[in-house]
Amino acid sequence: MSKKFAVTLRKIHRLSQTTLWFRFERNDGGLVSFEPGQFFRFVFTDGAGDFERAYSPCNFAEGVANIPYLDLVISYVDGGRASQHLFNCDEGVRATAGGPFGRLVLPRKLPARLFLVATSVGIAPFMPILKALAPSLEKQELEVVLLFGARTRDDFLFHEEISAIDDKFDSFTLKMCYSREAQADSKANEINGYVTGQIAGFSPDPESDKFMLCGNPRMIDDCFGLLKELGFTAKQVVREKYVYAKKISPQKSKVLTADQKRLIAEKVNKYR
Ligand SMILES: Cc1cc2nc3c(=O)[nH]c(=O)nc-3n(C[C@H](O)[C@H](O)[C@H](O)COP(=O)(O)OP(=O)(O)OC[C@H]3O[C@@H](n4cnc5c(N)ncnc54)[C@H](O)[C@@H]3O)c2cc1C
Repeated sequence: MSKKFAVTLRKIHRLSQTTLWFRFERNDGGLVSFEPGQFFRFVFTDGAGDFERAYSPCNFAEGVANIPYLDLVISYVDGGRASQHLFNCDEGVRATAGGPFGRLVLPRKLPARLFLVATSVGIAPFMPILKALAPSLEKQELEVVLLFGARTRDDFLFHEEISAIDDKFDSFTLKMCYSREAQADSKANEINGYVTGQIAGFSPDPESDKFMLCGNPRMIDDCFGLLKELGFTAKQVVREKYVYAKKISPQKSKVLTADQKRLIAEKVNKYR
C-alpha cells in the first residue's frame, strides 16, 4: 500500500558531469519500505508552487530493509523544473514522498537468465535489484546480463560497484555500451554502440529468459520491438519508461540565462 511521508535532503554528491546523488531522510524517524525496482512520487516546492516528479530509489550499500532514507540518482535536464530546483538547492530542503509504485520488480520465480537493460539513470532501480540478486548469483541459481547504455565513460554510473559485482560473480555478464565514447575497451566489457544492438548476440530464449528494461522511452520501444520479433511477450519483458512531465508551466519552459547556467554549473562542481 502506498503512503506519503515528509522527507528532508541530508546529503548530496556528484556522480558524473550531469548526475547528482541525493539522500532524502524521513522526518518522522520511520522506515521506508519498498521492493527493489519500485519508484516513489516526490512533491517539491519551488517559487511557482508544488510539483511532482517520479524517482526510483537507488539504495544499494545497505539494501532496502529497515532504512530511514531514499537515495536518488538524478540527471540534469536543461530547463527542467525539478532539475533547476534540485541542482540548485542545499541540504535541508524538504519534500514529500509517496509510494512505492511500479511493476519493475523481480519475478517471484527467477528465470534461468535475467537481462537488465538500462540507459543513463535507468540504472537506479537495478542497483537495489542487483543487491537483492547477490545471494542467487553467489549460488549460481541464475545468470544475470546487464546491458548498460551511457554516452561516455564519465556517465558509467556506479562503475566501481558494478565492476565489483562483475569480478565477484561468474554468472554475471556486463556490457557497457557507449554512444559517444571515442574508443571502447573490449577487455573491459565495453562496446561502442547502443544496448539494442547487443541483445541478439545473446540468443535470448522466450522459454527461459526474462527482460527488465528501464530508462529512455525510445530504447525501451526499440528493445521491446526486437524482443517481440524473437517471440517474447509483454509478460516476459517488464518495462519502465522514464517519461517526463507533460504539463509545461511557465517555470519549466523558462530559458536559463548565462548567469543561471553558470550558477548551476558551480553547484554541480561543488559536489564533485
Ligand atoms: C517511474 C519513473 C521513474 C523515474 N526515475 C528517475 C530517476 O531515478 N532519476 C532521474 O533522473 N529521472 C527519473 N525519472 C524522470 C523524472 O521523473 C523527471 O522527469 C526528470 O528528473 C526530469 O524532470 P525535470 O522537472 O527536470 O524536467 P521536466 O520539467 O519534466 O522537463 C522539461 C522538458 O525537458 C524534456 N525532458 C525531460 N527530461 C528529458 C530527457 N532526459 N531528455 C530529453 N528531454 C527531456 C521534457 O519533455 C520537457 O519538455 C523517472 C520517471 C518515471 C516516470
